[in-house]
Amino acid sequence: MSNPAPGALETVRAFVNTRDIDDDIELLTGPDELVAWLGDQELLGDERDVRATPGDLRHAVELREALRAHLLSHHDQPLADSFAEILDAAARRARLTVRFTGPDETGLAPEAAGVDGALGRLLAIVAGAIADGSWPRLKACPADTCQWAFYDASRNRSAVWCDMRVCGNRAKVRGFRERTRGGDGHRH
Ligand SMILES: [Zn+2]
Repeated sequence: MSNPAPGALETVRAFVNTRDIDDDIELLTGPDELVAWLGDQELLGDERDVRATPGDLRHAVELREALRAHLLSHHDQPLADSFAEILDAAARRARLTVRFTGPDETGLAPEAAGVDGALGRLLAIVAGAIADGSWPRLKACPADTCQWAFYDASRNRSAVWCDMRVCGNRAKVRGFRERTRGGDGHRH
């Protein structure tokens, strides 16, 4: 499962994929694991000895799933307001502020430290991707049993499945089965 996103957006893709539904893997199993992951992705800036609370972990997982909902909505699906509100709340906790990073360039940076600030850096990447037009290309696989985040590099932005050989085929087989058996709606 490849399809990496360009530049910093790959960090957002990796964040959403800290939960791998297909293989039943959760990387963010506790506050310490969260801090380790954020540090590994260089989202903690130059902070040392960051401590996370169970509340931080809850915020991170809530944000991850709201981002996944955004990526699912990139298949021309509507997005519930509640998912945008979760991003707003995370941006407020991070105290994201505009920085003038160059003569004709702005960026967002968090004033908050710790996990709040690190999640703010993720949101700053999202805001940058919205500004440069790459955001709608970051998608989540619509197969319930997958939901893997992938970057759609196709010319007309038409990719649906994370991997045509895996999830695309699975969907094809299921469609065939439902057509030939009258469709009991069962999903494996
Ligand atoms: Zn998939």
